[in-house]
Amino acid sequence: MTATAATTTIKYTEVFNTSKAIIEKVRLPLGKGEPFSFDVKRDDLIDPIVSGNKWRKLKYNLLTASNRKNKGILTFGGPYSNHLVATAKAASQFRVGAIGIVRGDELNAYSNPTLKACTDLGMKLIFVSRSNYRRKDEPTFLKQLHEDYPNYFFVPEGGKNYYGVIGCQEILQETSNDYDHVYLAGGTGTTGAGLVLGATQKSRINVVSALKGSFIQDDINALLHMVLNEEEMVEEYKERLIVHNDAHFGGYGKVPQELITYINSIYESTGLKLDPIYTAKAMYQMEQDFRNKIIQPNEKVLFVHTGGLQGALSWKESLGYLKDD
Ligand SMILES: *Cc1c(COP(=O)(O)O)cnc(C)c1O
Repeated sequence: MTATAATTTIKYTEVFNTSKAIIEKVRLPLGKGEPFSFDVKRDDLIDPIVSGNKWRKLKYNLLTASNRKNKGILTFGGPYSNHLVATAKAASQFRVGAIGIVRGDELNAYSNPTLKACTDLGMKLIFVSRSNYRRKDEPTFLKQLHEDYPNYFFVPEGGKNYYGVIGCQEILQETSNDYDHVYLAGGTGTTGAGLVLGATQKSRINVVSALKGSFIQDDINALLHMVLNEEEMVEEYKERLIVHNDAHFGGYGKVPQELITYINSIYESTGLKLDPIYTAKAMYQMEQDFRNKIIQPNEKVLFVHTGGLQGALSWKESLGYLKDD
């Protein structure tokens, strides 16, 4: 092994240390009914500002970029993107460059706390119009970016690629992996696809979409195809997947008072801090499934806390746990 390889190994274990992502036992009181007991995989504890599952999705992207001796990572995100900050932080710790293509050409490097954090971590931000941003997966648009920023490793918005899925496969491997039901929030479906691939036949992976619509099912199918390559295998793994499209609370980024009240009540009764964009919706669906006896009291349940508290800072005035901090 060369000296360079040894250094990379050390940096890698430091940057992607998931030992803080412990399993916590939670008891949620439900009025007169039996309390709901479940485990929580605390991926939100991996890093104080960066969302847990974003680390998972970046791990093999960064390792690949580093092995290929790319200058850095180029990726995409909205102005409040957890993925952008995660990329900025992981890249800076890995000592590779980072470029963020940001939706909204009226913005600048200090427009909000998310963008400021990216800038402070050394990410170069490029602001593009909404119409150009919509072209972010088009070959001609990407070709131009490759010419403008040569030798960067491109990661799609939200870390939605092969390496992203592979990284998320490791989440369940850090648990007893014998759960009947696993719940998590879904955006691009990358984390959900990883969990489906990492689960055993016993488990049902419940992906609760944070977005209005029902496209996450197709997105997860496409990701499973990308990794498995075979229709028959995809069909087999798909039996472990359950997609929920009814707990979006109005859609992505919509935060009705009802949702804030729910987050505050979960914090008061369990101490768990949930974010309004993703994790609160997944918890809500899981609680409903327990109340509706889709989950039986004797079954083993895991909630994967994917993080997102960085994004929750925008609701500082209304979230109880942020007022206490
Ligand atoms: C990004 C994010 C998700 C969505 O993950 P996908 O892999 O895109 O489905 C879920 N929870 C939190 C907290 C996130 O930041």
